[in-house]
Amino acid sequence: MARTYLDHNATAPLRPQARAAVVAALDVFGNASSVHAEGRRARALIDEAREAVAQLVNADAGEVVFTSGATEANTWALSAPWETIVLAGIEHDSVRAPATAMAAARGARVVDIPVTRGGTADYGSAPLNAATLLVLQLANNETGVLQNVEAAGLRATENGARLHTDAVQAPGRVAIDFKTLGASTMSLSAHKIGGPKGIGALVVGNGVTLPALFAGGGQELRRRAGTENVAAIAGFGAAARAALDELAGASRVAKLRDRLEAEVKRATPEAVIIGADAPRLPNTAAIALPGVSAETLVIKFDLAGVAISAGAACSSGKVAESHVLTAMGLPPEIAGSAIRVSLGPETTEAEIAAFLAAWTRICGSASLAA
Ligand code: PMP
Repeated sequence: MARTYLDHNATAPLRPQARAAVVAALDVFGNASSVHAEGRRARALIDEAREAVAQLVNADAGEVVFTSGATEANTWALSAPWETIVLAGIEHDSVRAPATAMAAARGARVVDIPVTRGGTADYGSAPLNAATLLVLQLANNETGVLQNVEAAGLRATENGARLHTDAVQAPGRVAIDFKTLGASTMSLSAHKIGGPKGIGALVVGNGVTLPALFAGGGQELRRRAGTENVAAIAGFGAAARAALDELAGASRVAKLRDRLEAEVKRATPEAVIIGADAPRLPNTAAIALPGVSAETLVIKFDLAGVAISAGAACSSGKVAESHVLTAMGLPPEIAGSAIRVSLGPETTEAEIAAFLAAWTRICGSASLAA
């Protein structure tokens, strides 16, 4: 049976260009710190990739530091000096967990900002001063809702506060301009844009002070010591180039997503489209069928050949109640029944039709009663 993969926010299939770059780079065995020709070849691959990632988000190449992924990048960004950290319950666990742990270790304060039912974080009354780190994601991984990071950056700058943004879900879907965001730091992850897993970046603005993540060798501009993962970095670079080219296709993806949501509403009027009124990523639909377990839906769709997820993908494979939907104030019968359908640049009309056929079969009232 042909599979329909609609879980791009969990991870995207490896792009052919990224695969080719990884495979080619595996044979470039030199140590990028070596001065000889073999080393210089590896260095050139890293430099090219750094340039590509910088272009994807309109940053300077010297601002891009490769990490093992966005979890590492978020944790590192939070190691900045602060006495108060301000964030909302919709942030990813890779932000929330280190924020709580670091605040406890420093005896510092965590200020939890409110979130509207539409999924927008309201930092309006948050204490912002030179001792504050404000954290605000660019796009939510479960709902696709976009935050106005630029406005937050302006407020942070006016108050001398620092802003970190988790931009993992945004590249290739919406344009990102690090230079105008007003953020000190920004996290990225290659596997969300069709690059390999286990590689990402923290963009550290020019002039922003941040303690080195690892001391040791002088790699990554003395910010993250350790011999570079050249193949993964090259794959990230190739994926970044492709993602930038693909922004033009975002409206096609939005049309497919909108059609999917409209058809779902037609087939099951009781379905709730979460975040529908907020500015959203073009590829994400968060749909709840009140009272129906999301976990059950995910399993039924999987058996029907369609890969979707229930809220966030959980590392344990177990679906926990979504902290994002709970932070949005959605009641348990909605939060517990929300599925996430996330499209990719290659998603076809036929795949949307396959999803809708499965939806009608699985979620039609007679089927669910059965
Ligand atoms: N932030 C967000 C919004 C994410 O969706 C993810 C991945 N689920 C991460 C951070 C973590 O990224 P990585 O897998 O590269 O550690």
